[in-house]
Amino acid sequence: MQERGTHSSPWRAPDFREETHARNPIAGFLYSVLHTFQLGSTQLPLCICISSLRSVDCSIRSRRFPKERDHQTTEMKIHHVACLEDNYAYLIIDESTKEAAAVDPVEPEKVLKAAQEHGVDIKLVLTTHHHWDHAGGNEKIKQLVPRIKVYGGSIDNVKGCTDKVDNGDKISLGADVHILSLHTPCHTKGHISYYVTSKEGDDPAVFTGDTLFIAGCGKFFEGTAEQMHQSLCVTLGSLPKPTRVYCGHEYTVKNLQFALTVEPDNEKIKQKLSWAQKQREAGLPTVASTIEEEMETNPFIRADLPELQERVGCKTAVEALREIRQRKDNWRG
Ligand SMILES: [Zn+2]
Repeated sequence: MQERGTHSSPWRAPDFREETHARNPIAGFLYSVLHTFQLGSTQLPLCICISSLRSVDCSIRSRRFPKERDHQTTEMKIHHVACLEDNYAYLIIDESTKEAAAVDPVEPEKVLKAAQEHGVDIKLVLTTHHHWDHAGGNEKIKQLVPRIKVYGGSIDNVKGCTDKVDNGDKISLGADVHILSLHTPCHTKGHISYYVTSKEGDDPAVFTGDTLFIAGCGKFFEGTAEQMHQSLCVTLGSLPKPTRVYCGHEYTVKNLQFALTVEPDNEKIKQKLSWAQKQREAGLPTVASTIEEEMETNPFIRADLPELQERVGCKTAVEALREIRQRKDNWRG
């Protein structure tokens, strides 16, 4: 796990100084994140900064498993909107202005109703990828909400997209919510995850669509195991450990059952499966997780670990990821 920060991350900035921010929006954004955590070393390579940030997060925020699930904060609120059979759309709310972003609002009427109940105005849509069960509501929500902006990956051919984004592009919501676009390809070639921060003291959140699920990952429809490794283990795996993970589907129980076939002795997986089953029996979501929990229980992110590679008969993380994905595709749990 420790070595993750040494991979070539899309965020790597050779010189992490404030004056470079105008030229390098990713460095600028992360600089502000580091300042939020009061770790603003201006000379360190970004990968080292992220590693420091992770270790500090561990020490100041160690919590027992399962983690506290009420993640609402004063500046930013996040609400689930269950859609279709097992999809989740989300509302991200900037509390100070009551402005909201809708993530993958495949059933716009449901999302608008939720916005009304919470007394907020939807200003923009964040689309993770082009599949109909994520982008299929975009045209409709444009009709229902005049002047709404619809963001989507620049190479993902997202229906109804008005504003294309690439890796590192920033979006603001209201007064205090900042959104960073992360290109996380493989499930689709232009898939975007959205990393969201607000004020100091709030844990960040990431909306991972069908790239990272709780204890799983999306099928490799338009990419390779190499790309999924980069997306999961490098791009998302480099986020601060307390980052809350909001994914596109409620697949957690099945994913954890599969994870146990890969690691039958992993106590964290057993505990989380038992918790997830109880949540579902009570009609409650198992989302959000955290990056830290995923590192403990998600066999696809854990493909980075030599002991897991050995367990599945592989020598590298990419080989192990490909092998575990193949096993999952053939698994009839
Ligand atoms: Zn999909």
